[in-house]
Amino acid sequence: PGVLYLCPTPIGNLEDITLRALRILKEADYIAAEDTRVTKRLLNHYGIKTPLVSYREHNKEQMGRKIVEDILEGKSVALVSDAGTPGISDPGEDLVKKAVDAGVPVVPLPGPSAVICAVSASGLSTSKFAFEGFLPQKSAERRKQLEKLRDEKRTIVVYEAPHRLLKCLSDIRDILGERKIAVAREMTKLHEEFFRGTVSEAIEKFESTPPKGEIVLVIEGAGFETGGTRKVELSEREGINKIIL
Ligand code: SAM
Repeated sequence: PGVLYLCPTPIGNLEDITLRALRILKEADYIAAEDTRVTKRLLNHYGIKTPLVSYREHNKEQMGRKIVEDILEGKSVALVSDAGTPGISDPGEDLVKKAVDAGVPVVPLPGPSAVICAVSASGLSTSKFAFEGFLPQKSAERRKQLEKLRDEKRTIVVYEAPHRLLKCLSDIRDILGERKIAVAREMTKLHEEFFRGTVSEAIEKFESTPPKGEIVLVIEGAGFETGGTRKVELSEREGINKIIL
């Protein structure tokens, strides 16, 4: 068979693509893209003329089967998502499962991903983190999910849409309590912004200037004394066992 290549693409800045990803995009028999218009812009920028097919949420069953068949017949396919690493909170996950089930070789290329980018610059603990993808869109369900995360000691990372940010932040404050948070917005783009502060400070800031663009939230894990009211333990990872502040 051929190969399914997972090709990370920029999350904003067109320069953020590896030499290897560009070569694979050039050499593949075709590229399976979430939104062919978005990917065309990238391909045009780099003068790549490989044919594109659309593989997205709405056709992932049927197209997924077709792509796996093509690879079994010897074709090599490069999978890209709209931005970042395919398979992370996008329909790529499904194609990789199908490929693995069919015994098709899956080769991942390292590259940009919004989650890693946000965590790395968050200023919060990066040694352990729990990636939650998108929280539920409806507040009641979101709050239920947050309840489950209340005692999570690792740093928590979620993707969020700008129009839900304020509601999501207030659910976070209600359920998880006051914590440090980093709001990573429009990373690698012209209006890149990192807000770092408490959840309340973030609410205050985004109430006065409603956010636009793409957002990753990085939330401090449970057990830190950010709210100033609870007595808590410092991270045991540091070897500072049970120091009570
Ligand atoms: N597979 C992608 C990855 O590895 O980054 C993530 C796909 S997910 C459908 C898209 C979400 O990633 C957006 O809603 C946003 O939360 C986040 N995101 C993508 N690009 C971003 C950027 N430049 N700045 C901040 N967040 C971004």
